[in-house]
Amino acid sequence: MRILLAEDEIALSDQIRRALAAEGHAVDVAADGIEAGHLGETEPYDLIVLDIGLPLRDGLSILKDWRGAGVATPVLILTARGSWSEKVDGLDAGADDYMTKPFHMAELAARVRVLLRRKAGFTSPVFERGDVSLDLRSGRVVRAGMIVDLTQQELAVLTYLAHNAGRMITRTELSEHIYSYDGDRDSNTIAVFVARLRKKLGSDLIVTSRGRGYMIDMPA
Ligand code: CA
Repeated sequence: MRILLAEDEIALSDQIRRALAAEGHAVDVAADGIEAGHLGETEPYDLIVLDIGLPLRDGLSILKDWRGAGVATPVLILTARGSWSEKVDGLDAGADDYMTKPFHMAELAARVRVLLRRKAGFTSPVFERGDVSLDLRSGRVVRAGMIVDLTQQELAVLTYLAHNAGRMITRTELSEHIYSYDGDRDSNTIAVFVARLRKKLGSDLIVTSRGRGYMIDMPA
């Protein structure tokens, strides 16, 4: 999944970026409010982690602008310790959740998983379809009781399709959600990843439609 991380404290930003990347996410980093505001409005993120105290433009006004412009992406705000009013203002401005600094990366990662799967409409951290299961906490994929080894890109494609089950996804959309802004986006390689996934997980799981894209169907 593709995530925008807007945080100006470099050490913290780097720590969060690494924690999210370790979960298999493609992360774009913005270190000031103007860049964050622009990216959040123009790029198709699956989730945004937004520090309220950003230079040039504060997080709250950015969030209000996004919501006013119809950006419905889940937003998790980062607030300063002891500032309860930031949480209230943030939630009222359209944030979906908050974290108070300092926090543990494992908790941030868990809240990110919750927001992503809530948007996708599933309640369990394990996605199951037929004899295939995908544990979104560990990235572990099991087919018919056997662990399946996937590359990071294959896992990213599977994860995006799982979060958008029931919807046909084009190669372009997939490439926009598995690569970061400066990633080497080649939508032709998506077909290769899907072919490998079908080989490893069975040809029933991912429906392909020539010229339209790919889909994991809803259960019958
Ligand atoms: Ca800050």
